[in-house]
Amino acid sequence: MRKNEKPYLIMTPGPTQMHPDVLGALSQYETNPDLDSDFLVFYRRLCQDISKKMNASGPTFILAGEGILGLEAACASMIEPGDRVLTISNGIFGRGFDDFSKMYGAQTVMYEGDLRRGLDPVKLDRFIIDHGPFKVATVVHCETPSGITNDLETIGKVLNRHGILSIVDAVSSFGGEKLNVDAWGLDVVLSGSQKVLSGPAGLSTATLSQRAVERIKGRTTPIASYYANLSIWLDYYEKKSFPYTQPVQMLIALDKAVERLEVETLAERHKIFAEAVRGTFEQLGFELYALDHESNTVTTVLLPSGVDFKTLFNQMKTVHGVLIGGGFNFLENRIFRIGHMGENLSAEKIAAALDALQACFISMGTVFGTRRYSEVFCELLEQHQENLKAC
Ligand SMILES: *Cc1c(COP(=O)(O)O)cnc(C)c1O
Repeated sequence: MRKNEKPYLIMTPGPTQMHPDVLGALSQYETNPDLDSDFLVFYRRLCQDISKKMNASGPTFILAGEGILGLEAACASMIEPGDRVLTISNGIFGRGFDDFSKMYGAQTVMYEGDLRRGLDPVKLDRFIIDHGPFKVATVVHCETPSGITNDLETIGKVLNRHGILSIVDAVSSFGGEKLNVDAWGLDVVLSGSQKVLSGPAGLSTATLSQRAVERIKGRTTPIASYYANLSIWLDYYEKKSFPYTQPVQMLIALDKAVERLEVETLAERHKIFAEAVRGTFEQLGFELYALDHESNTVTTVLLPSGVDFKTLFNQMKTVHGVLIGGGFNFLENRIFRIGHMGENLSAEKIAAALDALQACFISMGTVFGTRRYSEVFCELLEQHQENLKAC
């Protein structure tokens, strides 16, 4: 933590930097959420706003826990012991779902695609024909650790054709990539407050289709959890009471963050910035980890040979005050990551991070090209945004 100093420039793929209005909201509101009926009305309106921004007609619930709580709650609520569940994976979060499904009694079958590419819907379709039937499938929209965004529109169609309900991790994509829950036939879509939303870390959202609501209501076995039980939320509004005390300040801040989310234009803006970031690294001679379906919220770059991530991270942090992401699990010390989502979607911030990277690499004796990284980036960005002077 930095005290009495310039705050860090947080360019990690979550948590992202909060807008001053969002930060300010954390200190603005005091009430008793259990007794104040206005709060109930506010909460419901916020949930409806999130559904709307996901292009979903079903309900959204907000859980008082990090993104992971949403993933666990979806598995706990949608899976009954003995269910055949398809784990669709091309990365770390995809694989992680398998553990949650098993924890709640599923018999899982794993479909794993190429870890450097987007999921192939044709191969997935074939796999389901050979190994199905399945009740539920889990899938990740944006694999944040590897910087790959899967084509949920086509995957959703495949799953619908086979009558499989979907649990979708959209934690690092909601707001930064196109997401049409109804039109794509998705069933439980999960997001988090601290990624593209740029809200306070510690909240997750679950948006349900009517089919998902019916499945949860029609269970024959109880849900083996209270905190990760979505059914306790199904009638909170009619009962006029919450299942547990709501984190008032966090929710007010989340509302401010959701208000700032202009989903009609944001996905396009994320795409423009992401293309410029990727183009910069490619022009300079770096190799991107993702070979196709590159994410528009995070860019994953292979570490140049001889560069140790911890050394790079520490130098970025202590010398330049910039935080970047690294790799974990099978990507440990193989990559570095720049998050360009939500409030981080700024030419100035990205340019500053790129120039800090260049200075670090030069000091390590690793030279890519002769031009300033930020110059290359701004040039590429300006090609997309003719009227906007980027840097
Ligand atoms: C960040 C993230 C989560 C949530 O992880 P937390 O550790 O709770 O932040 C889940 N899925 C994906 C794809 C993520 O990027």
